[in-house]
Amino acid sequence: SYQSQFTDYKDLIQEGDLALIWISRGNIKAVTIDAKETFNTRYGSFSHTDMIGKPYGSQIAIRTRGTGRFAFIHVLQPTPELWTLSLPHRTQIVYTPDSSYIMQRMNCGPHTRVIEAGTGSGSFSHAFARTVEKLFTYEFHPVRYEQAMQEFKDHGLLNENVTITHRDVCEDGFTIKESDETSAIFESKNEIDLDATAVFLDLPAPWDAIHHLDKVIAQDQQVGVCCFSPCIEQVDKTIESLENNGWTNIEMVEIQGRQYESRRQMVRSMEDAMERCRDIKRRKKEGIEQKRLRIEAESNGEINASSVPTPREPFTEKSKFNPFGKGTRVKEGDPDFKWKQVTKIESEIKSHTSYLTFATKLSSRTRNDTIVQQCLNGTSD
Ligand code: SAM
Repeated sequence: SYQSQFTDYKDLIQEGDLALIWISRGNIKAVTIDAKETFNTRYGSFSHTDMIGKPYGSQIAIRTRGTGRFAFIHVLQPTPELWTLSLPHRTQIVYTPDSSYIMQRMNCGPHTRVIEAGTGSGSFSHAFARTVEKLFTYEFHPVRYEQAMQEFKDHGLLNENVTITHRDVCEDGFTIKESDETSAIFESKNEIDLDATAVFLDLPAPWDAIHHLDKVIAQDQQVGVCCFSPCIEQVDKTIESLENNGWTNIEMVEIQGRQYESRRQMVRSMEDAMERCRDIKRRKKEGIEQKRLRIEAESNGEINASSVPTPREPFTEKSKFNPFGKGTRVKEGDPDFKWKQVTKIESEIKSHTSYLTFATKLSSRTRNDTIVQQCLNGTSD
């Protein structure tokens, strides 16, 4: 049977594998390993035969065209995180800073049954699929539905725990019947028991889908919902709909993922600053003097003003370094200079920041006395 490389780890790169090729931090490409193929980059071509049989994570090196220097790539096993960075975008997608937070907030684990709408580019679907028992995902756009279905099939997810259904969930809800356009497999019944324990809605109008949820969520345990919306007006409407439909513990969160870097900054002394001022003053004076000489030479008819002295080099007396900008570049941490440790943060926030509206619902509060008694006796499993 086909094993999903997204859920089962393997050691060696083999023919037919989906591999993710790491070229640089912002450039990861998915390839299917085929001994007849090469992977082309602007640095040169990497033959798949050089990859086959090597452990995942290996570095593959080639000599670059022309310069003869080394270029290298890393061949990595697919993970939902890397897939999110390399997948073909068909829509806006949910990135790992959001998806990881959402999954832990909704207590997703191996017993969670998730409803997701819409599927979009399947970025979040891959993350859910790795963790949860079942994922029921819905997409109303016909082409995106087909593409996502093919991708889930290729990645072995349809055989594992993912069901995709072609559906407008705002109009028609979440129930899956045999007559529907779906990847679901019907065994004894002609309707699927969804019993969802977590719901994720990444839709333009989640408030129109919320009232359909009662029919498909688990009745006897707490269910979590998360609605992912970029505008605060959408949040407002979503909250109103959640309240009207009996959802509680409503809370809105926004993830602002940032990278903090530990860096070194040069310590600049007062003496350096004064030297810099003297340098500016000196060069300004020389500049005025040269201009005066040039004008004088020109007015005397000396077209080729070679007699005019060339400008002086910037101040380079001791260290050849101007600590305030111009001059020789100094490598961060150069032991000839004094440094202090500082924290730098990225100026731009990376994750796509939507508002995350969370809520929970416990439909049936009836206590099952048999189970309680079993728990008290220590006889439940
Ligand atoms: N979360 C996805 C991911 O990480 O790749 C991206 C979802 S994308 C932003 C939203 C998707 O919802 C689109 O593909 C759109 O076609 C679909 N959609 C919008 N309204 C829908 C509806 N009423 N029923 C089902 N799908 C819908």
